[in-house]
Amino acid sequence: NANLSLMLQIFPFGDQRHLLLVQDVTDLQKADAMRRDFVANVSHEMRTPITVLMGFLETMQSLDLDRSQQSQYFDMMMSQAQRMKSLVEDLLTLANLEANTSPAPLQEMSITTLMALVKNDAEALSRGHHILSFEISNSNNLMGEEREILSAFGNLVSNAIRYTPETASVKVRWSVNERGEGEFSVADTGPGIASEHLSRLTERFYRVDRSRSRDTGGTGLGLAIVKHIANRHQAQLIITSAPGQGSTFTLRFPKERISE
Ligand code: ADP
Repeated sequence: NANLSLMLQIFPFGDQRHLLLVQDVTDLQKADAMRRDFVANVSHEMRTPITVLMGFLETMQSLDLDRSQQSQYFDMMMSQAQRMKSLVEDLLTLANLEANTSPAPLQEMSITTLMALVKNDAEALSRGHHILSFEISNSNNLMGEEREILSAFGNLVSNAIRYTPETASVKVRWSVNERGEGEFSVADTGPGIASEHLSRLTERFYRVDRSRSRDTGGTGLGLAIVKHIANRHQAQLIITSAPGQGSTFTLRFPKERISE
């Protein structure tokens, strides 16, 4: 196996004898490489808005701008600061989720209430530009951690809105399948995703289109967060998508986490 990393150690062992210790360190090295990639990614993601912010500040210092130009600059600076804030918030959320490997508590939440909160946020984000629909086919209760569930639902809905052109549609639905599992799904008519990307979407900072993700205010951590939350709720994240066909993201909860 060309990808295998082995560590060999030789220890003297009695007279003329040696102990050869062979250790498979492939996973250790992989984890180390992932950690280094992660730190490099975070630094890069932070440096970009800071550089842009400094550019604006320098321009403001050297040019005598009138009030309306100043206000334009302030708006642009605010959006860079906002980007850094979102990144730091998502990093903290992810760090907390990674530190907490126990299953999420069984706190009962009504789907109707959750859906109403999701709808409020979606409408504020879309600002009337998309055709949004919300449907609840079974008004169950879901057992889980409310903040996490709202964050997972919200991330999927905000992605659908951010990647779908204005006037196109986003359908949010709660239903129970024939096996009694609860499904929260978000179907959009956006650009869709090619199959080679699908298995990597939940990796931290993996993006299909870097510039589009940044333009839409993405941190590149949303789906990594959703995946962690899904794991903590024994839920599956199912992604079906094809270029030009839109995407559907479904969170499927085991029937033990659903109640009437
Ligand atoms: P980001 O902050 O970049 O949106 P995510 O982790 O939420 O990060 O998503 C990872 C990538 O998956 C995105 O950069 C985008 O390329 C792709 N993606 C996510 N949701 C959708 C969607 N509904 N339609 C098309 N592409 C999507």
